[in-house]
Amino acid sequence: MHTKICTVDLKSGILCPKCEEKVRRGEVTPLDLEVAKVLLSLESKYSALQNAYFYRAVEAGDTLVILMGNRDVPKILSYGGKLLKEISERTGKRRIRIVAYNADKRRLLEELFAPASILTINTLWLPDGSTETKVVLSGREARRIPISISTVKDLAKSLMNINLRVEFEGTPAYKTVRG
Ligand SMILES: [Zn+2]
Repeated sequence: MHTKICTVDLKSGILCPKCEEKVRRGEVTPLDLEVAKVLLSLESKYSALQNAYFYRAVEAGDTLVILMGNRDVPKILSYGGKLLKEISERTGKRRIRIVAYNADKRRLLEELFAPASILTINTLWLPDGSTETKVVLSGREARRIPISISTVKDLAKSLMNINLRVEFEGTPAYKTVRG
């Protein structure tokens, strides 16, 4: 498995000075370390993990999101719930989501909301100088979002440092108002 931390360090549990520095700078979090260790320990059983790229892990509520390489995600998901269940047992997190890492904000948001699809994404500038990222989904898509909106918001904050505002278009209430 490819990660920012040396495999040797993950196996021994002792970080080399380079990796220790990455943790100190916050480039690698304790959660990243924990998840990397778990994934590494599952490598022999789930061979797709052997050449996979692990980028980051973030948690919100009872959900653990694991960011993996684009090409690795379908391979990992092809194991079905079995691998996810093992990750869940070893990390103590109830819900595990494997998401394709993407540096592009829009693509990453699409991954978080998938299978619901996003209609528009806009940046709002607030009077106090801060910004909000407004995501609009169709009302019909609301039920397809696999995790709670507050969890998505927390994840967006920790992954991209953005404040998310989520709105729905054409919700039943809105339709009623329009007659
Ligand atoms: Zn190292």
